[in-house]
Amino acid sequence: MNTSVLEERKASISDRRRERGSAIRCESESVSGAVSQRACVYCGARVVLNPITDAYHIVHGPIGCASYTWDIRGSLTSGAQMYRNSFSTDLRETDIVFGGVKKLTAAIDELMGKMSPAPKLIFVFATCIVGVIGDDIEAVCRAAEMKYSIRVIPVKAPGFSGTKTQGYKLACDALMTLMLPHANQARRAPQRRLGVNILGDYNLAGEMWIIKGYLEKIGIPVISTITGDSSYEKLIQAPSATLNIVQCAGSSAYLAQRMETKWRIPSVRVSFFGIEDTTASLLRVAEALGGNDILHNARRFAAEKTAKIMPVIEKYKPRLQGKKAAIFVGGGFKAISLIRQFNELGMETVVVGTQTGKKDEYETIGSLVDSGAVILDDANPAELERFMTEKGADILVGGVKERPLAYKLGMAFCDHNHERKHPLAGFEGIENFVKEIHSSINSPVWQYVKGYAV
Ligand code: SF4
Repeated sequence: MNTSVLEERKASISDRRRERGSAIRCESESVSGAVSQRACVYCGARVVLNPITDAYHIVHGPIGCASYTWDIRGSLTSGAQMYRNSFSTDLRETDIVFGGVKKLTAAIDELMGKMSPAPKLIFVFATCIVGVIGDDIEAVCRAAEMKYSIRVIPVKAPGFSGTKTQGYKLACDALMTLMLPHANQARRAPQRRLGVNILGDYNLAGEMWIIKGYLEKIGIPVISTITGDSSYEKLIQAPSATLNIVQCAGSSAYLAQRMETKWRIPSVRVSFFGIEDTTASLLRVAEALGGNDILHNARRFAAEKTAKIMPVIEKYKPRLQGKKAAIFVGGGFKAISLIRQFNELGMETVVVGTQTGKKDEYETIGSLVDSGAVILDDANPAELERFMTEKGADILVGGVKERPLAYKLGMAFCDHNHERKHPLAGFEGIENFVKEIHSSINSPVWQYVKGYAV
């Protein structure tokens, strides 16, 4: 391994050729000074809770924490628009010296007095500095709940207190706090009904609506969506579902576990990226619900959709075959689906990294890529640049933080995260994905910028 990789980072990077089958270090804190691409704990919590369309989010901290995550998700709504705002206590030096509790109480009072519609649900996020000065945000939230008879839920997520995965967990705990009182009421008159909750889909560019449409078409009602296009009223119905389907396992597998322990709702993991995974996921959900009609519908639906999409793939495949892809995304499950999608297009994945991948996901990734591919956990820009250049990647699939890196290297880029405006999930998403990969890789612009390194 080249000296440009920090010694402490080497265990988190696997060269598939030399280290076949060996375990990669993951699910651990970032190395200090390595300039990780990962977001902080607070950001992890925020991205899960942000899409709840009618919730008010108060960021208790300096204004930078709020602006960093303002309207971050790119989630679409069929109802309220409130989630697209951020409210901040804008802590300054005097608050840090004398405490920010009064300012937080005043912020809640101001929202209750001025906002229309009046809040029914407020999340209060504690950021780094609040973790340092120790404001008791739980006490403030409890007092506000009693004063206004609404839900005010604290999310104690100082950015330094762990990894982004810890932020996901805190968001899942906040969702359980929201659902618990309602589920306890429902338990006295059980209301379990046939239907699923979709966990870990954030309705980026309307993807939740596509998946919901598929499920309803094959006879599976959707009870609650967590958290894309969700609302307070829809979320509290989630405990009555028969099954949880978990799309972004990194952010929501823990919530599924807690719902199974508390309400005995089983879960299945799904991914709606690519033909193989979309088809397998629809069949898995149908099988888990156990109805022959539903399973028959799912098989027929997937077969019809596949037949429609294949000509699109065949049309673009000759211009993509043999090209090399690099992937850097949030979770391992999405990376796995992307490798399969590139395989369907005859492309080779030469670099794969994630922010929060798990050991079993990295093992699956290792089994899907060719020898010589580089696998990285919690990478930084220098590592991505080095390995993408070394392996001759033609395109990088990533998010907002990876886009400039690709462009500075004169490399094609596909946004698979918050900023995209077209869906990449489901069969419709496959068509968008193939077209985007084609138009980006085969753009004539690259012949003029190739060779400019960062
Ligand atoms: S919580 Fe901390 S690490 Fe996260 S954005 Fe705020 S200051 Fe930065």
